[in-house]
Amino acid sequence: MILVGIGSNLSGKVGAPIETVKESLNAMQSNGMKILSCSNFYNTPPVGPPGQANYVNLVVRLSSVLMPHGLLDRLQAIENQFERQRSVKWGARTLDLDVLDWHGHMIQGRLNLPHPELTKRGFVLRPLMDVAPEWRDPKTGKSVSTLWNSLCVTEQLKIEKI
Ligand code: ATP
Ligand code: CA
Ligand code: CA
Repeated sequence: MILVGIGSNLSGKVGAPIETVKESLNAMQSNGMKILSCSNFYNTPPVGPPGQANYVNLVVRLSSVLMPHGLLDRLQAIENQFERQRSVKWGARTLDLDVLDWHGHMIQGRLNLPHPELTKRGFVLRPLMDVAPEWRDPKTGKSVSTLWNSLCVTEQLKIEKI
């Protein structure tokens, strides 16, 4: 299965983060990705430099004939289309599209799979449980619910369904 994590915490040319993430789904469909299912939307506190707005986060499950690096290229082109700026690491952004998993493959380089941070991030694990409750981390074999349950309750409570 192909899983993509989506985030936004900065208004862009189509409006507020929630509008941007909705439009990004249309852009993905126009770029060789078929959205099979989409999680709930979550309001989540930012990770990274302080002073940023909360994020809208969601996860989609895709089918696509694109190979992993081709998929990353298309996703980055979509980020650019929505005026993504890359100045500060983990800084505020109009749109972030991360490949979380590509059919269980493990690769390292320009594209790291599975996404190296996903097992620690409540804002990824919670929406991932919506679209793929049967998913397991290809590295450890741990289920998404096991990973979610290993986060502390205070972290879990920060992830609010919109
Ligand atoms: P994080 O990767 O911790 O979520 P980020 O999303 O803010 O941070 P970006 O600035 O969006 O990071 O991306 C930096 C680089 O990460 C990209 O240019 C891309 O080459 C690389 N990258 C590596 N693995 C992945 C992946 N699984 N999905 C998306 N980008 C990846
Ligand atoms: Ca990211
Ligand atoms: Ca990214």
